Amino acid sequence: MNGKSHTAKTNREIRLKFWGVRGSYPTVDRASSKIGGNTSCVEVQVDERQLIFDAGTGIIPLGKELCDSTAAVPTAYIFLSHTHIDHVMGLCFFEPLLTAEARTFILGPGTTHGALTRSLHHLTHSDLFPVSLDELKGKKEIFSLVGGETVRFGLPGHRPQITSAQAGNGGENELRIETYKSSAHPLNGVMLYRIFYENKSFVYATDIEEQDGGYPDVIEFARGADLLIHDAQYLSEEYFSRVKPRKGWGHSTIERAIEVAKKARVKQLALFHHEPTHDDKTMAMIEARAKQIFQSSVVAHEGMEIVLR
Ligand SMILES: [Zn+2]
Ligand SMILES: [Zn+2]
Repeated sequence: MNGKSHTAKTNREIRLKFWGVRGSYPTVDRASSKIGGNTSCVEVQVDERQLIFDAGTGIIPLGKELCDSTAAVPTAYIFLSHTHIDHVMGLCFFEPLLTAEARTFILGPGTTHGALTRSLHHLTHSDLFPVSLDELKGKKEIFSLVGGETVRFGLPGHRPQITSAQAGNGGENELRIETYKSSAHPLNGVMLYRIFYENKSFVYATDIEEQDGGYPDVIEFARGADLLIHDAQYLSEEYFSRVKPRKGWGHSTIERAIEVAKKARVKQLALFHHEPTHDDKTMAMIEARAKQIFQSSVVAHEGMEIVLR
């Protein structure tokens, strides 16, 4: 786990950086500052492409860095897990969307063509935001996904190619992303992504409420991945609390995330989408507890980098 900024050459690696790891809403208190308070956003540099998973508040500093430090005009591919506010609240402040020459492709769940565009337009309803999505100066294209697609990439900067078949005949080592729609998140489910490149892969699975023992389809989707980024918002004692049970709220316990990681035989697990009331002390306790059950667990924190090579 190390690495340089996004300007570093990718060298056939998958390079991840966590810009936002918090679930539900951003936090600003000092007691949580080591883990960080921004909501979901993971940057991935691979094959000379800039992929971004979710547009929580973590995407705001990432967008600034992209525009400040890239010599060329940035092109970004944003993959949204879903459009709950904590996953899109940074989108209108993502610098490339405000920069005339920059190009942003946004992909995420939408049951029909244009559904994701309509969902995102709610963000900039005139009661909520002064400028409409269409008025933001950066070039953008929005693609709805239903799950089961494979996304491939042509030349850098080009439009992604989306096919419905998962099998595909692309080269073994070619960058591709497979999608899987889970209904285990209220109300409209959530999209999971698996990124493949050069015989390596990782899974982005946030905002999913695993059942006891994990969902077999999710375990299958994550089978053998080098890294699983998984929702782990609650402690078991919170989830099963008699006073305020969290069952049905759409998130997993740490233990269930670990069960999925173990059954899927992933090499590493990053616990993600942290409960905003969990301070750094609680998160340290969670990491220690997680490592006892699955040694290759880590609590994701803002600024953390993981390189798959
Ligand atoms: Zn969330
Ligand atoms: Zn959600």
